[in-house]
Amino acid sequence: MKLYVATHNQHKLREIAEILPEFEIVADDPAGVEETSDEFIGNAFIKVRAIASKHPGEWCMADDSGLEVAALGGAPGVRSARYAGRDGDTPANNALLLKNLEGVEDRKANFTCAIALIDPDGREHSAIGKSFGKIADKPSGIEGFGYDPLFIPDGYFRSFAELSAGEKNAISHRGRALENAREIIRSVKKPSLKSWLRLFRFVNIPTVPGDILVGAAAAVTALGAGIYSPVKLAAAAAASVFFYLFGLVDNDIVGAKKDENRPIADGEISLAAARVVRGVFWAAAIALGYCFKLPPPWWAVSFALLCSIIIYNRTKRSPVMGLCRALNVLSGAVVFLSGFKVEGLRLFIFAGIVSFIWFLYVSYLTYYASDENRYPSKKPFVRLLIAMIVYLQLLALIVFAVFFPPSTPVRHMLFAGAGLLITLRVFKFLMRDVSAT
Ligand code: IMP
Repeated sequence: MKLYVATHNQHKLREIAEILPEFEIVADDPAGVEETSDEFIGNAFIKVRAIASKHPGEWCMADDSGLEVAALGGAPGVRSARYAGRDGDTPANNALLLKNLEGVEDRKANFTCAIALIDPDGREHSAIGKSFGKIADKPSGIEGFGYDPLFIPDGYFRSFAELSAGEKNAISHRGRALENAREIIRSVKKPSLKSWLRLFRFVNIPTVPGDILVGAAAAVTALGAGIYSPVKLAAAAAASVFFYLFGLVDNDIVGAKKDENRPIADGEISLAAARVVRGVFWAAAIALGYCFKLPPPWWAVSFALLCSIIIYNRTKRSPVMGLCRALNVLSGAVVFLSGFKVEGLRLFIFAGIVSFIWFLYVSYLTYYASDENRYPSKKPFVRLLIAMIVYLQLLALIVFAVFFPPSTPVRHMLFAGAGLLITLRVFKFLMRDVSAT
């Protein structure tokens, strides 16, 4: 999600980007505006209002901050940047501060950061953060900016300029104010059930376990009904859904800054919540494999699947997505094996052919859909191609049931495949306004 920030101060921008990593920070210099208020928050609103009209429908933010020294009656305060006269003359400002505090015992001071926000509907919000400490006798440290070398935060013996960026952000006025700002943005964009359904692309879920059915049907057709285990099939099908959900959440976490119209990118779901959910899905898939004692070949294929998902999300190469779905089919094909010994050329051929067709189909689908956001007219065909996966799965199951000596398990899988198709149609009907892509 974009966040327009009214400043040209590179130090502030860097700190804001560090503290709010989930936003794409875009600087917009409110050049020429006069900070006429005698309060931080007043000046912050002057700056943010100056840029908000240029970015309708977007979040805009400005920060006004400064140092307040008790013994100087709160000075430099709102005049922190121009304490010694010239705006941004840090050496002169720091020298004047030390001079004014010569011989003064009480060196208590605090930084204040006021943040003004304008939301996409034009409503105004504010957040404040403070950091307490004292002014040192002489400057020390080279990090940070402004008065950092003179400010020793409470509980520390080092100045802000001697702390690492992470240490300063954790206790600084800006860090605290931005944490509050993040809460405000989150509360304005409350996650609804629909946000989560969108994150999980819930509508597509029935297309995933069908891959496992097809792989399992290939295995039973090649090696005989004796190897069939409905429990292992169900466990592998459920695990495939969790791997898929893991991949979707991971995809949106990776794209949090750049994606458009996605619930994390839009700020509806926080990065932290999404990370937890991603971990839960990963653990659920692993737990299923462990509890239902799925065999070593399933673990090997699942490991390759996990790696492919992670690589796809970071490279967006269509063939890697094709590989993901091909591995999904393969994980169904190996779920009844007991070890790595490949039992029969027939399994290799059947599962190989189906996986290869899946690889080609899904690679093409992903390639075609890659620029659907730029060309929305492509969306209906993309949705059709996704829905067609279920028909492709049914077709493969019918081929196994009709052209080879049919076995009872394959017939059951055919019924299950038909069930998935009906589920997909129902999901699509019930969740008409939850996008599938
Ligand atoms: P303004 O918010 O751009 O009006 O300027 C705030 C001024 O306060 C800066 O130029 C610094 O001199 C001082 N200041 C604000 N935040 C910090 C900080 O984190 N470290 C050191 N100085 C700061």
